[in-house]
Amino acid sequence: MPSFAVNSPLPKFAELALPLPMRQTFTYRLTPNLQENVKMGARLLVPFGKRNLTGYVVELHQTLDEALEIEESQIKDALELLDEDPLLTEEILRLTNWAADYYASSWGEVLKASLPAGMNVETEQIVRITSNGRDELLKVSTAKTAKVQLLKYLAEHEEVSMRELGKEFGASTAQRIIRDLAKQHWVTTFLRNLASKTKPKRRKAVRLLNQESRVVSQELKPLILNQKQEAIIQILIENEGEIGFAELLEQADVSASVLQTLEKRGVVQTFVREVFRDPLQDAKLPKLNDFELTDGQAEAFESIKTALDSSIYQAFLLFGITGSGKTEIYIRAMKTALDNGKSSLMLVPEISLTPVFSRRLRAVFGDEVAILHSSLSAGERFDEWRRIRKGSARVVIGTRSAIFAPLVNAGLIIVDEEHDGSYRQQESPFYNARDLAVVRANFAKAVVVLGSATPSLETFYNSEQGKYTLLTLPNRIANRPLAKAELVDMRTVFREHGKDEVFAPELLSAIEEAHAKGEQSIILLNRRGFSQFVLCRGCGESIKCRNCDITLTFHRRDNVLMCHYCGFRAKVPQKCPLCDSKFIYFIGEGTEQLEDILRRKFSGLRIERIDRDSMSRRGKLEGILQDFSEHKIDMLVGTQMLAKGHDFPKVTLVGVVSVDAGLALPDFRSAERTFQLLTQVAGRAGRGDLPGRVLIQTFYPEHYALQHACTQSYENFYREEVRFRQKLSYPPFVALASILVHHTNYNYAFDNAAILKECLQNANSQRQARILGPAPAPLARLKGEHRLQILIKAANRKKLRELLDFALHEAQEKFCDLKTVNVEIDPINLL
Ligand code: ADP
Ligand code: ZN
Ligand code: ZN
Repeated sequence: MPSFAVNSPLPKFAELALPLPMRQTFTYRLTPNLQENVKMGARLLVPFGKRNLTGYVVELHQTLDEALEIEESQIKDALELLDEDPLLTEEILRLTNWAADYYASSWGEVLKASLPAGMNVETEQIVRITSNGRDELLKVSTAKTAKVQLLKYLAEHEEVSMRELGKEFGASTAQRIIRDLAKQHWVTTFLRNLASKTKPKRRKAVRLLNQESRVVSQELKPLILNQKQEAIIQILIENEGEIGFAELLEQADVSASVLQTLEKRGVVQTFVREVFRDPLQDAKLPKLNDFELTDGQAEAFESIKTALDSSIYQAFLLFGITGSGKTEIYIRAMKTALDNGKSSLMLVPEISLTPVFSRRLRAVFGDEVAILHSSLSAGERFDEWRRIRKGSARVVIGTRSAIFAPLVNAGLIIVDEEHDGSYRQQESPFYNARDLAVVRANFAKAVVVLGSATPSLETFYNSEQGKYTLLTLPNRIANRPLAKAELVDMRTVFREHGKDEVFAPELLSAIEEAHAKGEQSIILLNRRGFSQFVLCRGCGESIKCRNCDITLTFHRRDNVLMCHYCGFRAKVPQKCPLCDSKFIYFIGEGTEQLEDILRRKFSGLRIERIDRDSMSRRGKLEGILQDFSEHKIDMLVGTQMLAKGHDFPKVTLVGVVSVDAGLALPDFRSAERTFQLLTQVAGRAGRGDLPGRVLIQTFYPEHYALQHACTQSYENFYREEVRFRQKLSYPPFVALASILVHHTNYNYAFDNAAILKECLQNANSQRQARILGPAPAPLARLKGEHRLQILIKAANRKKLRELLDFALHEAQEKFCDLKTVNVEIDPINLL
């Protein structure tokens, strides 16, 4: 290293991405102290308007960019450097920048989402009464006005936050009065930084000192230790010379005074060390079995290994039916990466899958495993994140946002159940972690493996186009047969019973049969979204839009049916337009009702329900799944959460109720979702040595998604679905964007949407895209806001972005309020 390197001049300005819904970055001046210490990727506290914000340094420069036309006097000083060692790596800066650009969202918001929650420093506004204020209060104290009440409150409390005042007096009242009081100099306000919510955890620990460092006087005397002291030394030696204070006392079964004596004699030393909170601390680890890979597994693994060993970017689609042994391949691939000195990241869709699987990973990889998901405490997540950043955890498993984990030297990214909708972040900043996994691997020259039994249409299409290497596992381990799936035609049930039945007799007797044999069952209700639709009990048809081939949604308030793609409206018909039957029906049943009915019919069975409402408490889901696997529960009733990944060998029956609710959702992906769900859920039956049976209740047994789900033929489904997508111009044949315009005032939302539509049409003069809407979004009102939707179908992504950029720019000039506008690229749920 040269002893006096030529220092490049220090940067004078920093370009910051701020967590605000704006695309641009912001320039701040660096004070001399900051100039020396700021690095790319560090966080800086900066003033913004009346607040302070945490910004992310994305660029450092010596001079102002003239093109920006900013006067130096307009630029504010950055306030405080929040990390000496930048939190954000170059790789994450690049990935988040790409994501912000691709998804047309704010870089700062993506960066904020990339860090563990609670890392941002926030500020709050504090109010304090002045001596003038106290004098005034003496004069007016008998008055009962809100103003006087508030002054009194301030006089009684030293310093009060605006938030607290808002709670006491109502937010808008408090704000108005404080503004007033401040003008009269009766109160002052200032900003206070709230400490970051996540801090390293420290604990007292003990270390064994070596011979040389012992105090001289002790060395002269021969060291004679009593039994208790010996025990302490022994434990320290077993723990490589260092152990937590409390643990040591407990293990040695001694009091603190024994340790104090040893410390005085210079044998040990107490000190404070950082401890990492470990989400797997008390987990029981499973026993490991060392399988021979099957031929199919071995072949797939070899391809992945070859790519890993040559450190090149390569993307694989691991298409293996349920129970074909994909997980074993993931684990071996991660081992290979680790042997090559590289880190691995594995994304999984559901929190509920993580505990079981992460224990298995812990058993294989020990402390190298870190877990990232949203039901960890903020402290746990913070610690796991830092272990990854330090490079001491090189096998990372997590849900969606773990795609931004700061891996050191990433070599492998796995996305299990890659078709799963939970990889898509459904709110700003939008991103799809599955797609970012491919991009990240590409940037890092790493290997990416997308695994599924039912790959998303886009992914399989990509493998057909040669973008991904296809690896197939067509058979279950030990050639266990797939469960037999049968459709139960509910039209017949309806005709025979003359009334509406929730459960077909076939399903009821199958339940009885399974439990008579001491086997378990799962009953699943397929219900997504919130909208109701209209179905004919006679012929099983739902009523569809004549332009879009999409089910019309029923709007109770206006008593109309509406298409959420094009805005088409129709009256609710008295009779079915297809078969003239008058049994028109509005669909919508809940899991709770199902559970009640089943409890009444099968009073001897132990039944539990699993859905998002009943599973809000951490640990409850895991508890129920554990009980189910130990057969303390006979039957589980629930939503799609039940379909995923679980391995219960004694489940022989799966019943699916009201599958049509999913098929008829106003979304072009409804057939694909239904097919995936049924295939996954069928994969839950017959995983052990007992053969499984799947019964699917439907009013529409002819539907291709159901037919192919029954034969469990992904390829046949794929061929048919791809034809449908091509014919009606849906992805992957077009690039899709959905624009949501939302506001509490319908007219305001509509006016903004109208401006936007006009600008889009102007930008689309050459007709390279189709622009649909504005129409009410399927969720036409959410949280008190009206929502309008515009859909854009363009030939390719580049055209789509050009069109959008141009139109958004023009819309802004025409005073379209862009705060009401959300742009979503590649939406997966049109809600
Ligand atoms: P998938 O993830 O494809 O659904 P899993 O990896 O869960 O399948 O494997 C299904 C079952 O087969 C698991 O219980 C697993 O332990 C077991 N298994 C996997 N590979 C082998 C193998 N080579 N030999 C024996 N059993 C295996
Ligand atoms: Zn009909
Ligand atoms: Zn339509």
